Amino acid sequence: MAKDKVSSEWGELLFDDADMQERLPKPTYRELMRVIKDGKPLDLDIANEVAHAMKEWALEKGATHFTHWFQPLTGITSEKHDSFLTPNGDGTILMAFSGKELVQGEPDASSFPSGGLRATFEARGYTVWDPTSPAFIKDEVLCIPTAFISYTGEALDKKTPLLRSQVALEMQAKRVLSLFGREPHRVTTNIGPEQEYFLIKESDYQARPDLILTGRTLFGAPPAKGQELEEHYFGAIRPTVNEFMKELDDELWKLGVPAKTKHNEVAPCQHELAPIYEQGSVAIDDNLLTMEKMKLLASHHGLVCLQHEKPFEYVNGSGKHDNWSLSADGKNLLEPGEHPEDNLLFLVFLACLVAAVDEHADLLRMSVASAGNDHRLGANEAPPAIVSVFLGDNLSPVVEALIHKEQAEAHESELMDLGVPQLPDILRDNTDRNRTSPFAFTGNKFEFRMPGSRQNLADPNVVLNTAVAEQCDRFVNYVADRSEEPFTQVAMRFVRHTFRDHQRVIFNGNGYSQEWEEEAERRGLPNIKATPDALPALLDPANIALFEKYGVLTEAEMHARYVAKAEQYAKLINIEANCMVDMARRLYVPAISSYAGDLATAVAAKAELGISSPSEKGIITRLTRGIDAIWSLADDLESRNYKARGIEDPGEQDHFYLNEVLPAMQALRDEVDALEPMVGDSWWPVPTYNTILYYV
Ligand code: ADP
Ligand code: MG
Repeated sequence: MAKDKVSSEWGELLFDDADMQERLPKPTYRELMRVIKDGKPLDLDIANEVAHAMKEWALEKGATHFTHWFQPLTGITSEKHDSFLTPNGDGTILMAFSGKELVQGEPDASSFPSGGLRATFEARGYTVWDPTSPAFIKDEVLCIPTAFISYTGEALDKKTPLLRSQVALEMQAKRVLSLFGREPHRVTTNIGPEQEYFLIKESDYQARPDLILTGRTLFGAPPAKGQELEEHYFGAIRPTVNEFMKELDDELWKLGVPAKTKHNEVAPCQHELAPIYEQGSVAIDDNLLTMEKMKLLASHHGLVCLQHEKPFEYVNGSGKHDNWSLSADGKNLLEPGEHPEDNLLFLVFLACLVAAVDEHADLLRMSVASAGNDHRLGANEAPPAIVSVFLGDNLSPVVEALIHKEQAEAHESELMDLGVPQLPDILRDNTDRNRTSPFAFTGNKFEFRMPGSRQNLADPNVVLNTAVAEQCDRFVNYVADRSEEPFTQVAMRFVRHTFRDHQRVIFNGNGYSQEWEEEAERRGLPNIKATPDALPALLDPANIALFEKYGVLTEAEMHARYVAKAEQYAKLINIEANCMVDMARRLYVPAISSYAGDLATAVAAKAELGISSPSEKGIITRLTRGIDAIWSLADDLESRNYKARGIEDPGEQDHFYLNEVLPAMQALRDEVDALEPMVGDSWWPVPTYNTILYYV
């Protein structure tokens, strides 16, 4: 039977398991599988054979180059292309690719942020093959997913700590499972990242220096129509966008990225793509690839894909929901299960998660902190900056009952009394969706909704994996300390005590409400509104001890991440401020002045005819005052930004940007935006929100 279109193109550009089986000698394939699946170290002979097979496959697909594809601390991916070309010395060439080239690369890494981990004179950084993420072909280049480390072995990237956190979680979860008599081969995380984005016309984009330089609009009066009619969400997809989405799906399927759901989002021009979940680090690689393809393919349709967390004021920004679960040999451990014993296992993991989120709310908040995401969190379009857990109306009473039964120690060994067997029934139709919660249990997985659209999901998952690993470890120790008691009784008490001790983080109400902010404060939950206050979590000795204990990040690596994130915040706002000053002086002031001048000429001409126009005179006066105001606000912003750049301490510098530069940016924007509706359309120097957000 002929294959359907999707099945025949699926994975065409991915060096997947079927390709390996077909092209590698059986013993080599088996050995490679032990590396990929069991984490065995890689032998160079095997690498040579894999490299050869990979190259032959890539050449057949038309590739000419290869690259080590990696994720420096900027979060986006980096690559340097080398051709396979090797001269034979007699004027002929050979297309070659060795095991060593597959396994290790040495990009000149001095220009990547290292947060001080690597002095520029010791610029060497190494990329190291991650065999768990399959190689793929992108634009005639064989891309090999890699980790990026320094000469001395420190992680210079997002991926290395992610892989380490997966190892830590797997080890601790296996210890828990072993107490339940289970010895799974592998325990892995599953991640389904829902990617939101905007598509706008390329011609509008090209006319806005702010979009080009910063990815968001720094000026713009409110559009006549926003998202209040609620007509865009799930609305019919317009033809140009549909063409883009179809090409995107095709390209992603060829790369083995399981793109599944696409729809219009809440804001005009906003859309979402959700793939089917995959093993954690692979899902994140695929998300990065998806983001890259989105940007590239939009250009085929006269569109530009905006991935900034807040491209437009007055309408929603974009997030990236991190759907997360844990599974043992493919069995989801967050599935309530059909038997009481399963329920107990489920409850142990659930309790571990709740405790992990409560104890490390500061780290989770840090992991999603960026200048762009600060515009979303707490702005009634995304969860507040307060980390809480939503369990839903069905699961919460069960948890309540568990906490409550604490007094009735006598019944403890009887699971029946606790209502635990009812769990599967209760959860079966748990369709309860609280979209205002930052961390929501949605049936058999958690959905972390704070991450921004542009970010690499490695950071939040490193925190989550490590924090859950710690709780699993705590459970195992708790049981070990009570080895004379029956296991179920001890496990049940652990669950109860954990829920009781972390009850404060559970919240099922409206996360957008003012009451919740007040209530959260009473409960002692942190409410960290801005990035400069969130980043120091990386320097907290208790947090450093956590990451060091589980071998995920060293103190030096955490410090480096702090510096890199703090620098990125300062640099982004510096660019935004520069861009605003430039646009104000060289675009807005000349345009407003020209319009006011033309009006003045007209008013003078009319006066000669004996016609006077008080409203025109009024406009000229207002615009002239506006020009003065804009000029002095731009001067003020420029001098504050200059001062900010001179501050050396990263924390102090970030706070100066937050408290001194951002308000000056807002003041300048307010003045320009106030004048926008008064100036003739053909004089206004950039496309307005009305134009950009509503195209056909
Ligand atoms: P919604 O918009 O209602 O949150 P979507 O279908 O858009 O739902 O996205 C849900 C995401 O969660 C998808 O990427 C899906 O594959 C993923 N997902 C489903 N089950 C799990 C699971 N057990 N673990 C991790 N992710 C999951
Ligand atoms: Mg979702």
